[in-house]
Amino acid sequence: MLTVEEALDEILRSVEPLAPEARALGESLGLTLAGQVLSDVDSPPFDKALMDGYAVRSEDILGPGTELTVIEELMAGRVPTRGLEAGQATRIMTGAPIPDGCDAVVKVEETESTNNTVRILAESARPGQNLIRRGTNMKSGEVVLKSGRTLRAQELSALAEMGCHQVSVRRRPTMAVLATGDELVPVNETPGPGQIRNSNETMLAAQIEQAGGAAVPLGIARDEREHLRERIAVGLKQDVLLLSGGVSAGKLDLVPSELASAGVEQVFHKVRVKPGKPVWFGILKPEEASLGRRNSCLVFGLPGNPVSSMVCFELFVRSAIRQLRGQQDAKPQPISARLAHTHTHRDDRETYFPAAVDWTDGNRVTLMKWHGSSDLQATRGANAMAVFPAEPREYQVGDSVDVILW
Ligand code: AMP
Ligand code: MG
Repeated sequence: MLTVEEALDEILRSVEPLAPEARALGESLGLTLAGQVLSDVDSPPFDKALMDGYAVRSEDILGPGTELTVIEELMAGRVPTRGLEAGQATRIMTGAPIPDGCDAVVKVEETESTNNTVRILAESARPGQNLIRRGTNMKSGEVVLKSGRTLRAQELSALAEMGCHQVSVRRRPTMAVLATGDELVPVNETPGPGQIRNSNETMLAAQIEQAGGAAVPLGIARDEREHLRERIAVGLKQDVLLLSGGVSAGKLDLVPSELASAGVEQVFHKVRVKPGKPVWFGILKPEEASLGRRNSCLVFGLPGNPVSSMVCFELFVRSAIRQLRGQQDAKPQPISARLAHTHTHRDDRETYFPAAVDWTDGNRVTLMKWHGSSDLQATRGANAMAVFPAEPREYQVGDSVDVILW
C-alpha cells in the first residue's frame, strides 16, 4: 500500500497543468498566472511629491523662518515648467512631478504663505524628504509576478499598473461531484429508516470552491451498475470527477469496477492513511475518452465517511487542483506547532487528526474530541489537521507536530 507521500508523488506525476488562456484583467481574480510578467514601466514613472506642500532645495532652508519665492503651482497630472533656483519654491500637490533642482518637499502644515512667498517653519529640510524617486518601487524590465501566482487584488493592481489588460492565466478546473449510496437522500428530504442525508456533496463542493475549482454537483448515484455507469459518464466530461463512497470492500462498492469499464486507468487504490485508507485515484486519458475531449479527466474515489472524504480531499484532491492550476508547491505545506496536551498515537498508519491551532500563542495545537471517520462534528471547531507519522508514540505537552491548515 502506498504512503501518503508516495500517493502524492503519483498524483503530481500524472497531472498536467491546464492549458493557458488569455483573459481580460477584470475577469482574472482568483485565477493563476500562466507566465511571468515583466514591468514595462518604472514605478513610479517620475520623481514625485508624496505630500501636499512646497518643493524646495534643502540647502536653502537655513533655520525656522526661511522665506522662499513661490514660482509655480503644480497639481497632480501637471508637469513643472520651471526648475528651482536658489531661494525658490514650487507649491506642489501629492502625486505631482517635482521640478528640477528640488530635493525635498516641505509639508504645507509646516509653512505659512503670503502672496508670492512662503515661510518655512521647520528648522531644516532633509534631502529626499516627502518625495519618491522614479523607479524606487520597481524598474522597467523587472519581474513583477512569477508564473503560478494566484491573482488577488494586490497582483491585479500591479498588472493594471503595467498596462496588462489581458493576462495569460489558467482557468479553474471543472469538478463533478457524484455521491454514491442507496442510503443517501438529498439534503432537503427527511431520511427514512436506515437513510442519511447526502452531506458530502455540499462539503466537497465547498472544498472545491475554496481550492479554486468550479464544482458541478451531480446528485446521488444508486448502488446499482447501470445508474452508476450513466452518472459516471456524465461526470467524466469535466476536468475532475470526485466520487464519494463505494470504494471500500463492501458488496455494493461498485465504483472501482465501473470506473475501469468506463476506461479510467487506475493509478492507485488504498493509501496507508487514517482516515481515508480506501481512497482511489485514476485517469481517463483523452484517447480513451468520448469524442471531443481535449484534456484528461482525473478521477478520485473518496471514501464515503465524511471525515475520510474531507481529509482525502485536503491531501490529494487539493494538491491535484493546485497542479492543474499551475501553482507552485502543489503538495500540502505543513507548518510546525506544539501540542497543548499529551496524546497517545497507536496507529501504524499516518494519521490526520482534526485539530485547532492557536497562533496567537506560539502555534499551540489542541486535538479535537474525535470519534473517527464518521464524526463530522469533530471538524467544526477545527482549523487544521495534525499529522502523526506511522510509528506509535506517546506525545508530551510541547512536543512539535506538523499541522496542515484548513
Ligand atoms: P462507503 O464508503 O460507501 O462505504 O460509505 C461509508 C459511510 O459513509 C456510509 O455508511 C455513510 O454512513 C457515509 N456516507 C457515504 N456517503 C455519504 C454522503 N454522501 N454523505 C454523508 N455520508 C455519507
Ligand atoms: Mg456506499
